[in-house]
Amino acid sequence: MRTAVYPGSFDPITLGHLDIVERGARLFDHLIVAVLVNLRKEPLFEVEERIAMATESVSHLPNVSVDHFPGLLVHYLRSKQARVIIRGLRAVSDFETELQLASMNKELMPDCETIFIPTEHQFSYLSSSIVKEIARHGGTVDRFVPERVKTRLESRYREESPGR
Ligand code: ADP
Repeated sequence: MRTAVYPGSFDPITLGHLDIVERGARLFDHLIVAVLVNLRKEPLFEVEERIAMATESVSHLPNVSVDHFPGLLVHYLRSKQARVIIRGLRAVSDFETELQLASMNKELMPDCETIFIPTEHQFSYLSSSIVKEIARHGGTVDRFVPERVKTRLESRYREESPGR
């Protein structure tokens, strides 16, 4: 069975991520969306909530599951007997960091491969941070995230500024 792992912060999962999940899932027997637990910067959503949103968003895909991992991605890959990492590429600006990550993961685990899936052009400007920024200021995020993620974003920011 060919298993691939799509790691990320998913704070929160967007339609851009989901597009990569759907396309990745067509290439492998099993795709694991792996939510990174310890983020360098403070996430908006706790890991449980990021997992819940990802799980709700991929429920229509039978060969996709959602999991989380605390530390090094290569340790997680080994524990799942997986060798393939999926990452999405939006712009040239993603490339530098992504190449660095892929090279380091290869150094740490020589038999792993990173596969890059290019974004669909309508998602090329989409990121979790920009979506959070729009929602924080009361803008509409319908076109950028799954419905349930939109609801959670709205209620999160309503808690922060109850007057809105
Ligand atoms: P990280 O903090 O590890 O970059 P993200 O959740 O921001 O985690 O992203 C996970 C992966 O999804 C990365 O490979 C990122 O480039 C990719 N990605 C994020 N947004 C999009 C998008 N709109 N289209 C395609 N790929 C995307």
